[in-house]
Amino acid sequence: MDKILIIDDSLLQIEFLKKILNSEYELTTATTAAKGLECVKEEDFSLILLDAVMPDMDGFTMLKILQEELITQHIPVIMITGLTDIKHEERSLMLGAVDYITKPFHPSIVKARVRTHIKLYHYRTQIERQSMSDPLTGIANRRCYDEYSGKKWEEAIRIKYPFSICMLDIDKFKVYNDVFGHPAGDEVITSVAKTIAANLKRSTDFVARYGGEEFVVILLGGDVDQICSHMEKVRQAIEDLHIPHSQEVSPWVTISVGGVTVLPKMGESFDKYLKIADDMLYEAKRSGRNRVVWKLEAKEEMEKG
Ligand code: GH3
Ligand code: MG
Ligand code: MG
Repeated sequence: MDKILIIDDSLLQIEFLKKILNSEYELTTATTAAKGLECVKEEDFSLILLDAVMPDMDGFTMLKILQEELITQHIPVIMITGLTDIKHEERSLMLGAVDYITKPFHPSIVKARVRTHIKLYHYRTQIERQSMSDPLTGIANRRCYDEYSGKKWEEAIRIKYPFSICMLDIDKFKVYNDVFGHPAGDEVITSVAKTIAANLKRSTDFVARYGGEEFVVILLGGDVDQICSHMEKVRQAIEDLHIPHSQEVSPWVTISVGGVTVLPKMGESFDKYLKIADDMLYEAKRSGRNRVVWKLEAKEEMEKG
C-alpha cells in the first residue's frame, strides 16, 4: 500500500482527508511542518499533501526545504489550501509542487488527483531505476556510476574522507567466449557481478558494470590495508565460484583487480584516479592476472588525517 503524508495544522481537515483516502492508502499525519520533516526522514512516502497556511513554518517554506533535500526531492507534493489567490497557486507550482487543491475539497477530485500523481510517481521511479541499472546483471550501470562517483567524490573532499576506486576485469574472457559461447559468457558476467555485489556489505560500498567484462568499485573511508584485503577477498570469492575456464592462469574463471586509495583535494580531478586504477589493473594483468594491485596516494597524509 502506498504511503501518504498529510501535513495540516487543522485536525478537522486531517480527519476529512483521512476519510477520503483511508481505504486506499497508508496515511501518516503531522500537524506542523517540523513534525512533517521528521516523518519524511523516517519513512518512504509516495506523496505528500501539504497545507499552505500553517503557524510557525508555512507550507511554501516547507516545500522549498523538501525540494532542496536529496532524500525528499523525489517525493511529489500536492499543496492544499483555502487560498484561492492565483499568486499562491503560481508560487506552489513554481516551487515544485505537482498539483494544487483548494478547500473545500470534493472527495472524488482529491481521490482522482492523488491516484494520478501516485501513478506518475511510480512510472518515474521505474524509469529512473531502469536507466540506472545494467539489464544483464541487474547491478548499477555506467550512468549510475558517473552520477554516484561525482557525488561521493565531492562529499569525500568536504568531509576529508579516504576514497578508493577500483577496476575489476575478468581474465582471458575472450577465450571463454570462444570456447563456451557468448550466452555462457553472459552467465559468467552475471555471476561475477552478483558475487562482487554480495561481498560489498557497507551501505556506501558501490559496484557498477563499467562495460563488457569490466566492473568498477568505489569504497569510502576505512583503512587502506583493510580495503586491499577486502578486495583480495572479492577476488578469492570469484575464484571460489569454480567456474571452469580453459586458460593458463587458473582452471577457474578469475578476475584481476587494480585500485587506488586517495584523500581527495579540492580542485582535483576524479578522472585522474580512475586512470590510476586502470593502470594498476594493467599492472595486475601484466604480472600474471588473478591478483590485486593497489596504489596508495599520499599515505603519510592519510595516516596524519
Ligand atoms: P584479459 O585477461 O587481458 O582481460 O583478456 P580478455 O580476453 O578478458 O580481454 P579482452 O578485452 O581482449 O576481451 C574481452 C572479451 O569480453 C571480449 C568480448 O567478447 C567479451 N565481452 C565483452 N562484453 C561481453 C558481454 O556482454 N557478454 C559476453 N559473453 N562477452 C563479452
Ligand atoms: Mg578481461
Ligand atoms: Mg576488458
